[in-house]
Order: sequence, then C-alpha cells, then structure tokens
Amino acid sequence: MPALRATKIVATLGPASSTPELLEAMIRAGVNVVRLNFSHGLAQDHIERAAMVRAAAQRSGVEVAIMADLQGPKIRVGKFANGRVQLQPGARFVLDAARTEPGDEHGVGLDYKELPHDVKPGDVLLLNDGLIVLQVEAVHGDAVETIVKVGGELSNNKGINKQGGGLTAPALTAKDMEDIRTAMGFQADYVAVSFPKSATDMEMARQLCNVAGAEFRHKPGLIAKIERAEAIPHLEEILRASDGIMVARGDLAVEVGNAAVPALQKKMIRMARAFDKVAITATQMMESMIHNPVPTRAEVSDVANAVLDGTDAVMLSAETAAGKYPLETVQEMATICAAAEASEDPLQDADFSGHRFTRIDQSIAMGALFTAHHLGAKAIVALTDSGATALWMSRHRIHIPIYALTSKVATQRRLAMYRNVRPLLLADTSADRDTALAQAEAHLKARGIVQSGDIYAITCGEPMGAPGGTNMLKICRAR
Ligand code: PGA
Ligand code: MN
Repeated sequence: MPALRATKIVATLGPASSTPELLEAMIRAGVNVVRLNFSHGLAQDHIERAAMVRAAAQRSGVEVAIMADLQGPKIRVGKFANGRVQLQPGARFVLDAARTEPGDEHGVGLDYKELPHDVKPGDVLLLNDGLIVLQVEAVHGDAVETIVKVGGELSNNKGINKQGGGLTAPALTAKDMEDIRTAMGFQADYVAVSFPKSATDMEMARQLCNVAGAEFRHKPGLIAKIERAEAIPHLEEILRASDGIMVARGDLAVEVGNAAVPALQKKMIRMARAFDKVAITATQMMESMIHNPVPTRAEVSDVANAVLDGTDAVMLSAETAAGKYPLETVQEMATICAAAEASEDPLQDADFSGHRFTRIDQSIAMGALFTAHHLGAKAIVALTDSGATALWMSRHRIHIPIYALTSKVATQRRLAMYRNVRPLLLADTSADRDTALAQAEAHLKARGIVQSGDIYAITCGEPMGAPGGTNMLKICRAR
C-alpha cells in the first residue's frame, strides 16, 4: 500500500479484471476492497472470484476485504422480442405486469409485478438510469399506461426508478437471501444491502448474515447502500443499524435528481463519521476510463472532492469490471487520493475538545490522537482485537498513519476499508504486556514503519489477551 494514501479504493471485479495476474497487479496498485457484484453472475462465479482474491492478496502481501454487493429488488422491465426498441417522444408505452409475450414498441412486461400498485397518474418513471422518462397516464389493472417524455433505446431488463421514490419492493429478495449464504460460505468481509429503506431492512440482513456465518463464527460488516429517496429521512436509524453506508449515486441520482446528490454526499459522509461508521462514495467516479486511458478533469475533481468530504473509500464499478483500463484506473485513482489528502489541513478534526467521550476505550483512542499530533509522532499504533479502537481513531482526520495490529485475520481484512488505517497481522501476541509491546515494536521496525529514535503512540488493553476495552496509552521512542 503506498504509504501516503489514507483513502481506500474499492474495485468491482468483472470480466475485465478476473485474471489472477491482473487482480494481483490491481491490489499492488492500491485496491483495498474487492466488490463482488451479485447483480451479475452465478454463485459459483463469485465463489471462484473470492478464492482468486484471497490468493492474489496473499501473493501481494496485503490483506484486502471482500464486499459482497447484493442485487436487491432492482425493479426492471421484461424482455423485448428484438432485444430492444426505440421509444419516440410523445408515443404511448404500456408497462404490463400480466404480459407474458416479449415486448415491442407499444409495451413490455415487468419483472416487478407490484409496479401497478405503486404508481398513479402523473407519476414520472425513469428507465435505464434516467435516460428514458415516462409519465404515467393511467393504471388499468396490471397495466401502467404511459406517455414517453424522453425517448431513446430501451433494451431487455433495464431498471425502473420512480421519481421521488415510493416503490414498495422489500429490500431483501429470495435471491439476496440465497446470495448471503453464498457470501458467508467464503466469509465475505462486508455485505452491501441494495435499496434499504429503514433500519429494519438492515437488521434483517444482519440476522441472515449472522445465521449463515455462524458455522464459521463469521460476522461481516454491513453496508447500507443509500440509493432510495425514502432512505434519506431515515439515515440516522439506518446508520445505527449498519457498519457503514455507500453513497450509491447511480440509483440515488435517478430518484432524487442529479442536482441534489453532491450535497447529500457531503451530508451522508459527515453523518457516517459522526456515528463512527464508514462511508464509501460510489458510481461513475472514473467513468470515462471505461474507454479512455486517462480520466477527465471533472472526474479527477470528483474523486478529490470525495476525499476532502472525508469518505473512507472511493469505488470503481464498470471501470474495473468491464473497462479497457482497469489497472490504469486504479493507479490514477490512488494518485488523485494521495494528492487530495496532502492538500488537506493536517489539523482538521484533530481538535476534539468540543466532543465528549465517556467511554474509557474511546477516550484512550482520542488521547492517542491528541498526543501523537502534538508530539509529531511517526505513527499511531493500536493493538486491537475487534478493530474498534482503530475505527474511533480513524473518524478524525490526522496526517499520522494509524497501524492496527491484530491477531485476527478477519479484523485485519475488515479494517482494510477504514480511512488512514493500515491493518497488520501480529500473530501470537504475548499475554504479558511488556513482551507484547516489544513484539509490536519489532514488527513495526521490521516493516520500516518506525526507526530507532522515532516517537509513536501505542494503545492496548490490560490485562492483555482478555476481551475488553483498550485502557492504556504509551508514548514510545523506538529503540
Ligand atoms: P449499483 O449500486 O452499482 O449496484 O447500482 C450503486 C449505485 O446505484 O450507485
Ligand atoms: Mn444501485
């Protein structure tokens, strides 16, 4: 991992990036989290890709997290006789839940049978990520009669959004439940839930994950993809029920309108950090690199601004899944992130005198940041089992890297998502405090993280090895 980059990169695997060599090169170039998109492919494909990720990470000498992204209730049109039609502005077009024959220019069937119950005359439907706009004229039984407002090509199984939100499909489909079992089979570190509307959706997903992961004692981190208009007023409760959120700008922009998204992005990232949760900024970040070897100026600004907003991670979708330049895209993104971070005020968020910390472990974490900042320490080090200390530390921007030393591979992988946290495995940590601290220092020196004479702050919990909170901070000068 390039030492100077704090923001993490999530890359989606797909046909363009599913060879062991390329994947390894992408991880070496800076990918921290690999996203498996369950909207495409069969269970077996994901199982094989997950194994490929673990193997490539091992060869690269870094751990990466795997995020299983569930398809969710993507609301789609059915298929067309010719695969596609051309819709003309002003034409009538019928979305018919009862239609079984393939579609044509007059109408098409629906994957989502509830649509006629969810819309009324005057509603605006956006198809194919908003490229096609239909206005509802009338609903007759299973048939939604519309007028084409903005025409264009419509092909098989394109998504449907309703402007302003209001589609009632539950967040977890039968396919999602099956996919959770698949993902727990390879111990995905994160599960991303698509289109949640409430905390209940996330709680249900967590229960399913914990049941399916029980035989491996595995509990993944849960990411709520904020992509429905209805999720916005429920952000607080959704955050409480999740480990993080994704600013899922693709679907979100269709529901709330493009222009509302930049401000929502800032608000969501700010809230996530305040709730001690992680934030991923997603979709079209480097879109033009699907075809071109360099990004546009606007894309460079977009990635940099997400970094300045405080996102933990920036995400690549089609750029790495289906693009021509997956490796170059990761390299470009890493460079942009590092430059944006370097431009930040190092004191930002480092003053937490306005906050009130009542927990011992949290106060110790803040104490480590405070002291390291004032002493100009080389590193902040957390000996951590669950990763909680590193999470708290990483919610404040500080230009000192945080090293999380853990004896648990699952913790190491999960921490790959946290901004400014470098998770390292420290197996067989001694139960004796002084021995453990010496082990940690030896590990840091062996990796060139600190050198003789460097000051670093380290936190741990006493008694060592017993579960429970961090309660000790030591300022060390490396020997
Ligand atoms: P998707 O989610 O890529 O699974 O649609 C992200 C988004 O909607 O932005
Ligand atoms: Mn989406």
